[in-house]
Amino acid sequence: MRDFSIDRKHFFSYSLQASEQFHQVQAFSLTNGTQVLVHAPGVIEFIPVSYRQGVGRHVLYSCGVHGNETAPIEICNEIVEAILSKKIIINARFMVQFANLPAMQSAQRFIQENMNRLFSGAHQPQTNNERQRAEQLEHHTRTFFANANDKSQCFHYDLHTAIRDAAYPRFAVYPYLHDKTYSYSQLEWLAQAGIDAVLLSESPTTTYSYYSSHDCGVHSFTVELGKVKPFGENNMADFALARSALFRLILPIDQAQPFAEAVFEERVKQPQIPVLFRISQSIVRSEADFKLHFSDDTPNFTMFQQGAVLASEYNIEGQCVNTFTAQQEQEAVVFPNANVAIGQRALLTVVPISIKDINVDV
Ligand SMILES: [Zn+2]
Repeated sequence: MRDFSIDRKHFFSYSLQASEQFHQVQAFSLTNGTQVLVHAPGVIEFIPVSYRQGVGRHVLYSCGVHGNETAPIEICNEIVEAILSKKIIINARFMVQFANLPAMQSAQRFIQENMNRLFSGAHQPQTNNERQRAEQLEHHTRTFFANANDKSQCFHYDLHTAIRDAAYPRFAVYPYLHDKTYSYSQLEWLAQAGIDAVLLSESPTTTYSYYSSHDCGVHSFTVELGKVKPFGENNMADFALARSALFRLILPIDQAQPFAEAVFEERVKQPQIPVLFRISQSIVRSEADFKLHFSDDTPNFTMFQQGAVLASEYNIEGQCVNTFTAQQEQEAVVFPNANVAIGQRALLTVVPISIKDINVDV
């Protein structure tokens, strides 16, 4: 195998298979003037020829925080290679992060620990590679956005695919904003990217999108683009709107046009903004004997009637000590997992909410 500094293509493959060549920063320019900075294995930045210090859009796509979530990795790889091969010329400062490379290589969600619980300092102590990588990614994200003058022009989309089916297959999590207002234009952008539903988080977390939202002050979302499939088996038509939106965000209008036309018919069917949900209950497992009262493969956002029993748990004598029920009409379950450690969240419930009920910047 040759190396990236000679080839100037196949950045993702080299990061995966010969990452040692990226332990020193590489910098070069393409013949069209785009500057390329490789900060670390899987971390690449592009600076457009039109860039003036701090001005304009600053865009970060991260993918593979969960190593087996392949579709976003394929889309990011396609964008990186399109820039390197000069098929497209970007007009935004742009970074791509292929996050958990060892997990991608072994087609696993993670090696030792769920990386999307390791941000905002949760990577301490640095006892494994995932913790070290989370800290390294935070560093590159912080530095990248620190160079931007206007945080309203800064965007981080942490791209995932869901493990299970969902009533809304494509959805995003809006990290907890504390006292900031929600961005209407971001909700519109998500709808254009094919996102059906947005879950409004109501407390601080240790996810990547909460880190960049809270610590870097930028627009940031966890975006679930559909269901997990192995590399090469994704039906890219399922991801057409997201792919198109991700390309268009970094391109000038004349170059963005073909990406918009290709999906125009699907795009006009999209509503103005996604369906919004807020969290109703966060159900924590506190006993060894914890049961969900619905099947393991129940899709995310499946709704239950008020009063329906969702979960129950039993003490060592076999007595039922906790029963969890749907407390409101149209209460839906998301991210159920009966096998979490005791003390961890086994299930969230959410309820639909109107845009009129939240603080939006319009
Ligand atoms: Zn994921």
